[in-house]
Amino acid sequence: MRASALLNMNLYGTSFIGSTRGAKTDETFNAFDPTTGNAVEPAFHSASIEELEKAANLADAARIPYGNLPGKTRANFLRSVADNIEALGDTLIERATLETSLPNARFVGERARTCGQLRMFADLLEEGSWVEARIDHAIPDRQPIPKPDVRSMYRPLGPVAVFCASNFPLAYSVAGGDTASALAAGCPVIVIAHTAHPGTAEFVASAIAKAVKDHEMPEGTFSLLFSKGYEIGQALVKHPAIRAVGFTGSRRGGRALMDLAAARPEPIPVYTEMSSVNPTFFLPSAIEKRSEALASDLHASVTGGVGQFCTKPGLVFLPQTAETSAFISNFRYQIANTKPAPLLTGGIQKAYKDASETRKSEVDGFTETTSTELKGFDVNPSVFEVSAADFLSKPDLGDEIFGPTTLIVNADSKEEMLQIAGDLEGQLAASVHGDEADLAEYADLIAILETKVGRLIFNGFSTGVEVCPSMVHGGPYPATSDSRSTAVGSRAITRFARLVCFQNFPDSALPEELKDSNPLAIWRMTDGEMGR
Ligand code: NAP
Repeated sequence: MRASALLNMNLYGTSFIGSTRGAKTDETFNAFDPTTGNAVEPAFHSASIEELEKAANLADAARIPYGNLPGKTRANFLRSVADNIEALGDTLIERATLETSLPNARFVGERARTCGQLRMFADLLEEGSWVEARIDHAIPDRQPIPKPDVRSMYRPLGPVAVFCASNFPLAYSVAGGDTASALAAGCPVIVIAHTAHPGTAEFVASAIAKAVKDHEMPEGTFSLLFSKGYEIGQALVKHPAIRAVGFTGSRRGGRALMDLAAARPEPIPVYTEMSSVNPTFFLPSAIEKRSEALASDLHASVTGGVGQFCTKPGLVFLPQTAETSAFISNFRYQIANTKPAPLLTGGIQKAYKDASETRKSEVDGFTETTSTELKGFDVNPSVFEVSAADFLSKPDLGDEIFGPTTLIVNADSKEEMLQIAGDLEGQLAASVHGDEADLAEYADLIAILETKVGRLIFNGFSTGVEVCPSMVHGGPYPATSDSRSTAVGSRAITRFARLVCFQNFPDSALPEELKDSNPLAIWRMTDGEMGR
């Protein structure tokens, strides 16, 4: 029988508390169709505090049995989650489109990315070396004191709370990067669904719940909580069973969760991905040689996904060249001729409009789509323009406006570019366009940018994050809460693991990864040398 036939394709509207469904509580909310602003059926029921307590206790009970499963067992489970998501077929894609107004094709791609991420972590678990095992054999006759046998490796942190992102209903939500990396590390997961796409969340949760059942995983391996306000999410972050948090969203929301976690009697790590304007520097040769193509590519990057990517180029630096004004005119023309489009939620639409009004009064130039026929959560794409001197004197011009807009900063000199780069907040990414000679001349700019971002891009745009082992989707605060980690790529697994050392243990009592015979044939450092 096809897996799709085994999945419940109707929306029920209640939380997933381990293997049971939550109650139809009185507190409800609906998703909205962003093209009209109208509510979409069915209503979703907020989890109660008692249901949260039950989910957290189940996750706590699953902590050791799930965390101690062989990597290959967890890999098979993750592959089933991916298979089950694919088995949801068009139902999932249509619901995601309804709740976000983003096109079907976008979700076909995002589903492939989501399932690809799950399978990437399955591959990582099957290979096994991610635990970074190190073995230092004992030297009992070492003088003046004997050396003990010391071995260490990554072990799971314990239950993780994951907050879904509004702008990636699949790839950064219920079975997205945070969930996949936490489950891969051996951590049970409790997801807080985003209120913007609860139906999408329920479908994906049903795919995970089925895999939990089919693979006989501990019941508390996965739960999903619907919640109308912040009470349930905050109570989850404070719950003693929770050992780490993953979040993608606003700086205000992320910061609130960081502060809550830090104020717990036992503080826990919080991995928040928040605001970033992804500065984009056009160096002279780029504007002189490729002005037209770059204006079109910048337009595509700023307006793609209605500008709702954390990697959108929100700050563009231009040098003074003979081609600069033609580049700006071309870009402004393209923006003026871009149709309005709906943002994901009424709240994001309001934030866009309010921030745009404020910015208008602070800049020298402004162009937006001329259309006045706005409906639902529609906004007009726009571009702002300002001199480098003004930018330097108005720090809030460096703030993110989430949506299809960007700020062009005209720099009179290289020194101005360097000064601005030095003043930038932490960012997910920065792009530099030019040639190799520019890179040599602007080596000091690159050196500054490297201290500000998680990813440096040459002759490309920051949107479009490749999911691969070497990707870094992170960056210093406020881009993220911890610049040492990445939310994309297989390195994300170590966010939800911690190093544990076993000293003088007999071989029979050690985890497989640390046994002398290396039964899993993983890469390890033994007495200072890498080998398998
Ligand atoms: P958000 O308001 O930060 O919400 C994200 C999630 O966290 C939602 O589930 C929200 O609950 C919850 N939440 C927010 N504040 C909380 C708090 N103080 N305590 C407990 N839970 C809290 O982000 P959003 O709704 O996705 O979008 C709003 C803004 O976030 C955008 O305008 C944009 O600036 C930014 N954003 C940034 C990125 C990025 O990747 N950097 C991505 C998306 C959004 P509810 O569902 O109940 O609201």
